[in-house]
Amino acid sequence: MRTLDLRTSKPRKPRNPGTVEPWNRGALLLLTILSIATLTPLVATAETTVIIRRYTADDRLSGRYQYVPFEIPAGTTQIRIEQTYDKAGGTNAVDLGLVEPGSLELGSRGLRGWSGGARSEIVLGPGTASPGYRPGPLPAGRWHVILGLYKVAPAGVEVTLRVTLAATPSTKRWYAGDLHLHTVHSDGNTEPAGVLDMARDAGLDFVAITDHNNTTHALAMPPDPTRRPLHIVGEEITTPGGHANVWGMKPGDWLDFRLGANDRRMNDLASAASARGALFSINHPVADCDACDWTQPIPDTTGAIEVWNGGLGPQAGAIAFWDDLLRKGKRVTGVASSDWHRPPGFIGAGSVRVLAESLTEQAILQAVAGGAVVMMRDPKSPPPVFTVSSDGRSAAVGETLRVPAGAPLDIAVTVPSFTSPGLAACPADCTVELSWNGRKIDTARAATGQASFRRRAENGYLRVTVLSGTTIVALTNPVFVSTK
Ligand SMILES: [Zn+2]
Ligand SMILES: [Zn+2]
Repeated sequence: MRTLDLRTSKPRKPRNPGTVEPWNRGALLLLTILSIATLTPLVATAETTVIIRRYTADDRLSGRYQYVPFEIPAGTTQIRIEQTYDKAGGTNAVDLGLVEPGSLELGSRGLRGWSGGARSEIVLGPGTASPGYRPGPLPAGRWHVILGLYKVAPAGVEVTLRVTLAATPSTKRWYAGDLHLHTVHSDGNTEPAGVLDMARDAGLDFVAITDHNNTTHALAMPPDPTRRPLHIVGEEITTPGGHANVWGMKPGDWLDFRLGANDRRMNDLASAASARGALFSINHPVADCDACDWTQPIPDTTGAIEVWNGGLGPQAGAIAFWDDLLRKGKRVTGVASSDWHRPPGFIGAGSVRVLAESLTEQAILQAVAGGAVVMMRDPKSPPPVFTVSSDGRSAAVGETLRVPAGAPLDIAVTVPSFTSPGLAACPADCTVELSWNGRKIDTARAATGQASFRRRAENGYLRVTVLSGTTIVALTNPVFVSTK
């Protein structure tokens, strides 16, 4: 690591003298060392911030847990925190933990991990993390190091934190997939190998096979991560109170479906899916078949909802159901799938485009859980790209733009060139609709391939629909706006 620049902030008074004691006669020293690291060819930059805090024995009494904020920008792919302090022969002991952006209140789900006094260095990123910390996406915004003042000597303790943020250039790209397919292992008419061949011919990069209430298709056709399309093992849990997909099961494993309608045990079932590392998705929540509507509780671990089932396009009732969840603050990803059983239906008629780091089960399901999904009418068309920007910051589908209330938002939609079968071509003959909190608020022609809108920031979510004539050809997941 080479040091290129060294900046020292002006000494300033801490905002809360009760929690931040002055260091070196009233000064809080913040050093920012900007450096370029070449750890691997993919790691482009790493920025280290050194934060020094001093605590007294009185601080320990008034606030056993102290919170040290640091900001991380979008695109951060690794956080490394190194903690040093003088243990003073065991009379000082300062524990370490981490909270991601969100509430610091007791019971907050933002606690990202805790290592107490066991380690002085923690590292976390999307795929790996130090023991005691959850790996996963690193949301942009204000994180906090928790310092637990277990012991503070009468002379006080000075704690140095080196926070290093690394950004690896994104290798994300859009992958096309169908997350809901049947075989002869339930009421489909095709062997699993035939379904995979048809999905590949349809242009799909990945599929989830989701037979009703079993995963035995994967015993007949074990997933091979090197074959295309990528084969994700799923199950369609089929109950009298509606159907749900779970993706990421082991071949031959199953989750028991023998529930009633409006059965509280659905929560346990969804938790059991999470415990297996599988993602839980409510299927066709408002459908015109017997016992297909979702009348079960909505499990907290619900990751997705199928608002677009089959070749008909998104169902208004299913979208209303989804918006109801979103307006309540539940981050549930909308998905489209064909629910294919047999010809003459088309695999991929109702499919997703997922922006993922790689074509692996873990990367695809992580991106689906994170909302990096656009729903499409057919399997081959490229997705519209929808971003919301303000004051140099930008957020894409599934992401949150954090801005002050009233800040101007630039909403940009790029509609690529494609023709959905049987319809007029996009972008020339297509329109873009903008929705706010599920309500249509604006429309623009997409003829040039670009549509843009303006709006002032308030808490809520924006979503885009692309139509050819009156037929929906693409429906994005939301970009969330937070003014908190
Ligand atoms: Zn179903
Ligand atoms: Zn089905």
